[in-house]
Amino acid sequence: MANYPAQVSIREVGPRDGLQNESVWVPTEQKIELINALANTGLKRIEAVSFVHPKAIPQMRDAAEVVAGIERAPGVSYSAIVPNAAGANRAVAAGMDEVEIFMSASESHNRKNVRMAVAESLGAAQQVARILGEAKMPFDAVISTAFGCPYEGDVPVERVMWVAEKLLELSPKPVRITLGDTTGMANPRLVDRIVGEFQDKFPDVTLSLHFHNTRGSGLANVLAGLQRGVTYFDSSLGGLGGCPYAPGATGNITTEDLVNMLHDMGIQTGIDLEKLLECARLAQSFVGHELPSQVLKAGPRTRLTPFH
Ligand code: ZN
Repeated sequence: MANYPAQVSIREVGPRDGLQNESVWVPTEQKIELINALANTGLKRIEAVSFVHPKAIPQMRDAAEVVAGIERAPGVSYSAIVPNAAGANRAVAAGMDEVEIFMSASESHNRKNVRMAVAESLGAAQQVARILGEAKMPFDAVISTAFGCPYEGDVPVERVMWVAEKLLELSPKPVRITLGDTTGMANPRLVDRIVGEFQDKFPDVTLSLHFHNTRGSGLANVLAGLQRGVTYFDSSLGGLGGCPYAPGATGNITTEDLVNMLHDMGIQTGIDLEKLLECARLAQSFVGHELPSQVLKAGPRTRLTPFH
């Protein structure tokens, strides 16, 4: 029988990964309301904003106002994703608790995303790490397209491990590495293989997994990660978000579906599922369309149907 961890830590990425891939503009006050509500569910990590160029991602142009407007709940870590030194300086100025830096495992996705070769991104990452180090701000290094690239297809496992190795050479070091399935190309066997290789190569490094449910294999991929002992996962409430490369595609794995499954398996998250569902309903009203969440439609497994 497979072993499962007793507890899992979820980073809610809906306000960032979710909203930045939604086409509607969500006003600053609503973003603040949503983040405050999420902090009240028991979630301990919230990726609130990204400090990217406003022209690149207009949905995040109010990032500094959002961070200034939220109530910082004690014990909750609020993070921002940053693409470069300018973003890192903005994250430091905003007083984030943690930062995510990112680069792709595949060249074409990295060029398309940040207009740099991976080697150039690694150079830029050292500059960012220095800024964050001076501010004593911990950071997570996210490797996008770790399970497949929308332009190149399969990404060699050695390539993913090489990028991870380079990121772990940064000074200061990232507090963890996140492997991202940016466009939903992973499958459970591949997750098992890549996570296994990662753990063999970097036994002391905390690993986190970031799945999108673009093709419906999101929770199956989580299961493969759990069976390897991974305890850090990203998800977004309501399954907010989409995919810039596939119109109509769904976004991240859904936080309430993930929490419902984990709780049912006896794995603790510290999150109140009913409160989380209220947040998902709020998010749904803000984006103005139905979100792909299953538990939002069906209700949690623990909610029984009255028998007449
Ligand atoms: Zn993502």
